[in-house]
Parts: sequence; structure tokens; C-alpha cells
Amino acid sequence: LGHVYKDVKRSKHFKILVNPFGGQGHAKKLWEHIAEPLIKAAGCTYDLTYTTHRYHAKEIAKDLNIRQYDAVVCVSGDGVVHEVINGLMERQDAIIAHKLPIGAIPGGSGNALSFSLLGEDHGAHVGNATLGVIKGRAMPVDLCSVTQGNGRFFSFELQSFGLIADVDLGTEHMRWMGEARFTVSAVGKLLSQATTGCELAYIPVETNIKRIHEQYNEARQTPVVWADQTHDELDANHPSIVDKFGGVTDSFRQEDGWVVENDEYITVVGAKTPWISKGSITNPAAQPNDGCIDLLVFPKDIGRVAGLAVMIGVETGEHVFHKDVRYMKVKAFRVSPKASSGFISMDGEHTPYQPYQVEAHRGLVSVLSI
Ligand code: ADP
Ligand code: MG
Repeated sequence: LGHVYKDVKRSKHFKILVNPFGGQGHAKKLWEHIAEPLIKAAGCTYDLTYTTHRYHAKEIAKDLNIRQYDAVVCVSGDGVVHEVINGLMERQDAIIAHKLPIGAIPGGSGNALSFSLLGEDHGAHVGNATLGVIKGRAMPVDLCSVTQGNGRFFSFELQSFGLIADVDLGTEHMRWMGEARFTVSAVGKLLSQATTGCELAYIPVETNIKRIHEQYNEARQTPVVWADQTHDELDANHPSIVDKFGGVTDSFRQEDGWVVENDEYITVVGAKTPWISKGSITNPAAQPNDGCIDLLVFPKDIGRVAGLAVMIGVETGEHVFHKDVRYMKVKAFRVSPKASSGFISMDGEHTPYQPYQVEAHRGLVSVLSI
């Protein structure tokens, strides 16, 4: 039996990041009252940092002694996860650092990663998410590179333009409302029928919503392939991760297969996770590692009545079947805004209002999942 016991893993050692500013400012309490006691009871150990400013989590991830930890766990919204990933990817040793698993415990107003790992009910629950972190295994998830200006950074879940970005970023003054701020402002903006012009380009993989639905159901039947089973494959696919993704790039990738259109849109949303916030499953067919971005487009001519039907559909994901809504799997997409100012949101974080190109890269990071 000796070999069996040798294989039993010791309890995990975590780097914990708590964002005391996220959401309605409850993350510290949630950590102290719910997450920390569970982690201690499970025999896990940790080093803890309260983030004190924007980019603090990124600075920590850049300098972290990654060999010391089994995972970095964010008690926050998605913004801190976004920073951790970008910190890991900017390291000289990104080829190793990108494998450090990331855990999510919901403590912000946008907790899409936690929802998407556990479902909305469990994912909103700090106790369940903490158990997921304690028990979880590393699951590879795709990462999107975002090229903008002459730089490049990474987005792990959501790239939005138009209404959804306005709702995400233009409602900071409504933080006191908690997650309700997203719904309240989305309904208001939809009724105002505002649109935003851009050139939209994309490399389609699947544009037929019926087939996307079928493929989603098939994918749900296949078991997860964990990161510890695929790391060799990851290495083979990304032999020079630093060269390929860490450097500066001065132009968008040009290749065949781009579809280009010019129009006014209510919103254009690329996503790797189904949920955008509580009660909003904007990109319901999103898969963690299918190598695709799910692109949701609300064209300009959805009327007020259809718009409200679509909004109600977003609660369950049914809106993708609405005749006025476009939903497709793409390998990459590009948005070039026509206006001179507005909002672009990457994982809920402010991004300059300039053209950007998003590309999916398969299994580039891993998250703790059960
Ligand atoms: P939310 O879901 O409420 O947006 P996030 O965890 O996504 O919460 O964080 C939102 C932003 O807060 C991120 O840009 C993050 O860098 C920033 N931040 C982290 N710590 C602090 C702090 N102590 N004060 C102000 N902002 C912070
Ligand atoms: Mg956020």
C-alpha cells in the first residue's frame, strides 16, 4: 500500500489575493467569515495579500515565487483574475508561469469565472467556491490575446463594445446597487436604442446556431481533460510562448478567411465564459477550451419590443435563438470603432477606445475546477 499513500497529495498551499474594493466592498468579510475558516479546516496553508490599488494583483503575479504555491486564488471579481493572468504572461518565465492554476472565490460585482465554473447558484456562493478551490484540479482554459495599438495583452473571459461595455464600465457610480446595476442600466440603454458604429471583422468557425447548440450538447457529454494530463501537449503547442505572445506587435494579423462588415451595432461581445453577471448568460455556448471565441452581435435594427424580449432571453441564454440576434463561434475578431470616444471593456476592465483584435489560444492557462 506504500505507493498509494505516496501518491496522496498533501493539502494545498495558496497565494490568496483579496480585493477589498471589489463589488460592494464585502470581499474582506467574505474571506474572513467564510473562505478562510474552510481553507484552514481543510488543512490548507496560504500567504495573503489585500490588494491596495489597480494593477497590484498584476505586480504580485509578475514577482510571485510560483514554485512555492499550488495555486493563486482571487477573492474578488474578474478584474483581479485578469490582472493575475496578465502578470503571469508578462514574466520572462511565462512558459512555466502560465501553468500556475488560478482559483476564483466570488467577491466582486462581476464574478463570471466563478459562475461559469460552478453554475450561477453555486458560483455565487463563497462557501461552494472555496470548496471548489480546496478540492479542485487544474483545468486548461483558452486565453485570448488582445492586440491594440502596438501592444498586446490577454483577456480570459469577455471583450465588449457598445451597450454591454457601457453597462459594465459606465455604471461605477451605481456600485452601491451591487449586481443589479447591470440589469437596471441595460434596460435603460436598450430602450434608448443607442447604437455604435464600427468595422467588425471576424474569422468564422461556425455561424449556424442550431449546429452550435448541437456541438455544445455533445461537448457537455465528454469528460474534462485535466491540465496535468495535457501539459506535454501544451508545451508542444506553445514552444516559445514568450516570443509568440509576450512581445510587442505593431499590426493586426492578416490572413485569409476574414469576413469584414461595416455597420452600426447595439453591442458586440466576445466571450470565453457564458455568464457576464448574475442573471445574464450572454454567451451561453461558450466552452472553456474549444479554441473559439463566442461572438454575440445585437444589430442596430432590433426594435424596443424585440429588444426587451431579447433582454429577458439573456436570463436563460434563449436570446441566441431570436431572429434578430447573431451568435457565432469565431477564431478571431476585430472591432474598429468609428466614434472618437466610448467604452471598451476587457474582463470588466477599462481599455482604450481604439481598434482591437482578439484571438483565441487553446488551453493557455488553467483554473481550479471540480
Ligand atoms: P468588480 O467585480 O467589483 O469589478 P474586481 O475584483 O473585478 O471587482 O476589481 C475591480 C478593480 O479594482 C480592478 O481593476 C482592480 O485592479 C481594482 N482594485 C484592486 N484593489 C483595489 C483597491 N484596494 N482599491 C481600488 N481598486 C482596487
Ligand atoms: Mg470587474
